[in-house]
Amino acid sequence: MHKTIFAFATPEGRSAIAVLRLSGPECRAVCTKIAGDVPSPRTGSVRVLRDPRDGDVIDEAIVFWTPGPGSFTGEDCLEFHVHGSRAVRSALLATLGSLPDCIPAGPGEFTLRAFLNGKTDLVKVEGLADLLEAETQVQRRQAISQRSGAVHVRVGAWREKLLGAMALLEASIDFSDEDDVRTDLKSEVGNALGSLEIDLVREIGRARYAEVIRDGFKVAIAGPPNVGKSSLINALSRRDLAIVTEHAGTTRDILEASLEIDGMLVRFFDMAGLRDTEDPVERIGVERARALAASTDLVLWLRSSDQEMPPAPEGLAHEGRLRHIFTKADLCSASAFEPSRIYVSSKSGYGIAELIELIGELAATAAGRGEPAVLTNARQASCVSQCYEAVARAKSLLSVDSAEVVCEELRAANDALSRLTGRIGPEEVLGAIFSRFCIGK
Ligand code: GDP
Repeated sequence: MHKTIFAFATPEGRSAIAVLRLSGPECRAVCTKIAGDVPSPRTGSVRVLRDPRDGDVIDEAIVFWTPGPGSFTGEDCLEFHVHGSRAVRSALLATLGSLPDCIPAGPGEFTLRAFLNGKTDLVKVEGLADLLEAETQVQRRQAISQRSGAVHVRVGAWREKLLGAMALLEASIDFSDEDDVRTDLKSEVGNALGSLEIDLVREIGRARYAEVIRDGFKVAIAGPPNVGKSSLINALSRRDLAIVTEHAGTTRDILEASLEIDGMLVRFFDMAGLRDTEDPVERIGVERARALAASTDLVLWLRSSDQEMPPAPEGLAHEGRLRHIFTKADLCSASAFEPSRIYVSSKSGYGIAELIELIGELAATAAGRGEPAVLTNARQASCVSQCYEAVARAKSLLSVDSAEVVCEELRAANDALSRLTGRIGPEEVLGAIFSRFCIGK
């Protein structure tokens, strides 16, 4: 039998109020047993909660009863808003655990039930997970836009084009004795598929912007040992995060500090000094630093202003992703500064605000600046890429193969769009998505 799940939706620890949610067929019975009756639907009602085993008063609470299917999960739902003490929470959990057919919920299980009952789709679920994880205002706006159904509008238009092309091809199968697609139909279908290809490619390209917003704009702080990398990251994040010493080769691991610049999440990585070394531990750090530099959006290559420094190693960053930063500006006289160079001093704070401003500009550009992207993660972009590939195959087969073969590819393209919203999809994809949630969501 389908169990009734329960969990606190609010975090552990002391709080003014803690919210316990239940979903499943036992909600009505649980409410009667614990709160004495079932209050009017969707209205907060004050009730005394009792342990039905001995009548012990657990707390006075506000009870919300939401019968299915008009609830978040689509099932009967119940909420108890109790006082957020450890003792009240544990008494309520113990009471619920003693009731038949009631079990503690797993991570994301309420949302999973909502999905399985058709109350939401995968893209909206991912938007919800992003919203719960959002740290910056730009991330919050992107998640809200994802939940508003922008993807559906776009997918609906793509699907219409696909189905239109399939209808034309199927008509040619039904009404023609010939196996080949008629020439006039070929050009009509070819045009429709060509315009669909353009839409898909544009959206796949824009997915990169959304990725930068979700994962943050990544900045590697690189350079030879002792050039001031750790000090700069401390100055940027105004925290004593990295260890600063006068001995070369201290930062053996990669340290990260995050900053919100103009609503964007910017993640700084302080990396081991890039130099050839015999120390095996340091060498691992250097290798990891190189690999990370290759995957960041920006590499700041640090050089000391007061001495000759080696140039940035070959192949450290693509063109346009590398900026030379001259550190320890306080050790030079400002009259010796070259106008085209960026000087900073972690000690005096010189140039730090300007550097943050420059990084903010680059981050905003990488995030696309304009209207939010529709596809916001790698899974969504991959579904649309698969759709695109099938459409491209269909288009190339149009001139050489039968209408049935072309239709087969278009069906594959349509399936890829269905996987995007989760109409069809493998179990492991669902597992990966729902495990992102905390218990109680
Ligand atoms: P890293 O090895 O590149 O991470 O360099 P650190 O941040 O550990 O700094 C190495 C040394 O340079 C330390 O003694 C710092 O105090 C010093 N240092 C770092 N930044 C500055 C700066 O802006 N001005 C001056 N005068 N010294 C600095």
